[in-house]
Amino acid sequence: MRVDTFSRLYESNTFWLNAEQKAIVDLGSLTIAKQLPLDEVCCVILTHSHYDHTAALDKLELPSSAIVMMHEADATAIGTSASAAHFFGAPPPQFHVDKLLRDGASIDLGDSILRVIHTPGHTPGSICLYEAHSKSLFSGDTVFPHGGIGRTDLPGGNSHDLTRSISRLTKLEVSVLYPGHGEVTASNVNEQIKQSLTFAKANESPE
Ligand SMILES: [Zn+2]
Ligand SMILES: [Zn+2]
Repeated sequence: MRVDTFSRLYESNTFWLNAEQKAIVDLGSLTIAKQLPLDEVCCVILTHSHYDHTAALDKLELPSSAIVMMHEADATAIGTSASAAHFFGAPPPQFHVDKLLRDGASIDLGDSILRVIHTPGHTPGSICLYEAHSKSLFSGDTVFPHGGIGRTDLPGGNSHDLTRSISRLTKLEVSVLYPGHGEVTASNVNEQIKQSLTFAKANESPE
C-alpha cells in the first residue's frame, strides 16, 4: 500500500492511502484537503476527535459516497470543548460521523485491510490503524517517533490508559510508523514503540 503524507506546521499529518479504495487518515487542514482528489475517496478515518485532526471536515463538502469513521467513544466530543479547538482559537468543528468504530473492526480497502485498535489515553476514543501486509501503523497522537507519547492532560486524557494502550502496540510487528505529528519512520519502529512505553510508564500520574 502506497501512502502519501501531507503535513503543515501546527496541524496533524494527513495520510492518503493509495489502496484499491482510496482512504484518508485524519483531516485537520483545509489547505491540505484542497490538495487531495476528494472525489476519489471512499472513507475518511479519524484517529481521534481533536481539532487538529478533524477541522477540515467542518468546512468541506465530501462526495456523498465518502464515509467518515471514528471510534464511538470520541464521536461524543464532536462540537464540544473536548475537541480542544480553543487551543487553536477556533470553535469546535461540527461534522457528521457515518460509521462508529470499535476495537477489532476491519476497514476493507480492497487490496489492504486496516485493523482498528482502540488505544484510549490521549482521548477516550483514540484509535490506531494497523495494516498487517505492509506492517504499517497509523498511530494518531498515541505514540510518536523516538519514544514520544501523546499528552494526557486534555479532557478525557488518562495516563494509565495510555500506558495500557501503548503496551498493546508493543505486541505488533511494525515496519513503518505513520504518526499524527512528526516524520514517518521506518527504522527500528518496534524499538521506538518500546521507548514510548517506557516513557509513558514514567509519566503516569499517581493513582
Ligand atoms: Zn494532534
Ligand atoms: Zn490529539
